[in-house]
Amino acid sequence: MTTEHILHHTDVEAASVEVPSIAIIGGGLTGLFTATLLERAFSQASDNTLIPQMTVPQITIFEKSRSVGRLATRYRTDDHTGKNWQWAFGAQFFTAKTANFQQFIAPYLGSGLIQPWCAKVVDLHSASVSGQSPDIQQKEQWSSTQARYISTPKMTSWGRVLADELKHTTINFKTRVAPLAHYTQQSMSEESQKTELFDDTGRSLGLFDWVICTVPNAQAIALLANSKFPEPARFTEPKMLACYTLMLGWDSVAQLPDILSHEVQPVWDVAYVNGSIIDRIFIEHQKPKHDNLLPSVTIHARNDWSEQHVDDDIEAVKSQLLTAAQQALNWNEGSRPSQIDCHRWRYAATDKVSNTYSNHDASEGSNKETGILVDNQQQWIVSGDWCAQGNIESCYQMAQQTVAVICQAT
Ligand SMILES: Cc1cc2nc3c(=O)[nH]c(=O)nc-3n(C[C@H](O)[C@H](O)[C@H](O)COP(=O)(O)OP(=O)(O)OC[C@H]3O[C@@H](n4cnc5c(N)ncnc54)[C@H](O)[C@@H]3O)c2cc1C
Repeated sequence: MTTEHILHHTDVEAASVEVPSIAIIGGGLTGLFTATLLERAFSQASDNTLIPQMTVPQITIFEKSRSVGRLATRYRTDDHTGKNWQWAFGAQFFTAKTANFQQFIAPYLGSGLIQPWCAKVVDLHSASVSGQSPDIQQKEQWSSTQARYISTPKMTSWGRVLADELKHTTINFKTRVAPLAHYTQQSMSEESQKTELFDDTGRSLGLFDWVICTVPNAQAIALLANSKFPEPARFTEPKMLACYTLMLGWDSVAQLPDILSHEVQPVWDVAYVNGSIIDRIFIEHQKPKHDNLLPSVTIHARNDWSEQHVDDDIEAVKSQLLTAAQQALNWNEGSRPSQIDCHRWRYAATDKVSNTYSNHDASEGSNKETGILVDNQQQWIVSGDWCAQGNIESCYQMAQQTVAVICQAT
């Protein structure tokens, strides 16, 4: 048995307290927030009791890649200047509408790691053919009252800091957890409720009291297929949509097309694009604390278009997106971008229309509430941004729900 026992000696008596072991599958923001809030909740509970009934759990995050999920930053260095182009090619910014999340981000705002992004936003009607000027109308300025936030110097920086701050959590990168049913059934011990996880080579990753799955829903379906998780059909209900991201870079500000220069009004940071396969354009080098970058622009294609073309050849997609980008930004031979890159996200956004499925506890009847899925018997939780609105704030809310369930059961 791998259970650890810690002896706590007090004046009154010695108590043997079992350290719960918790596995989190996925090292994106849902996983990192969950580990952070679990550590905080258990530390607080231990501090508040003379003989600790609860002690800080051993948490292990398993992440198949080497980075932090859909928070993604790509950069490239110019050999001549040593300066970088940089693109936040996943999430561009996030909101903090709830008081709890505002409180959570406050220290990071204080340290400057997180910055409000008061972007000037325009509506941009693409020209129908290349060479014509698009129509641009001022739309709004994101303000500190309806704030959008970014992490600096990169969108990935916050994830790295959250990971570094974890004290009782081990993160195993480049570890892909195998579908639970492949190996797990015979390893479940009836009395201890522990689940043994394995990687995709069949190597044991250990025994866990709780398993929290935070991967996108199509991957959750694969992980839990044929497992005993109740009503797995419910994972399929929220549809996750693809998104192609185009990354463009120019060698200097002087080489930018007029529409991106500050000589043509209105000056803007974000464009909502109409009449195009492009959805939004973000100017990276105008973001707070990004002014040392070479001119860099990130473009997100529309989700519906991306979904239709999700299995297309990436070069063909890139070429179509470039044509659309040229119609939106109206560059000519002299103002063409020198850097062009394209990324396919198979699971980018949650289709909110379909996401009215889940209830808080799989054992209760459906109440149409959004939230995590819990199997209290096996102590498995299915979480992730897609259990709510599909954004960064959802990751935090789902982490809160997960921690509440585990604390209540412990
Ligand atoms: C193009 C794009 C634009 C976006 N724009 C915004 C925005 O403007 N504002 C906003 O708030 N949000 C935005 N989002 C959404 C935001 O990025 C997500 O809500 C958030 O990053 C989701 O975090 P997560 O931890 O739930 O999932 P993920 O970040 O997907 O993390 C899940 C992790 O699980 C890992 N994994 C999967 N299978 C396994 C396995 N078998 N074993 C181990 N690990 C596994 C994956 O590698 C991944 O790192 C955007 C996303 C994209 C792609």
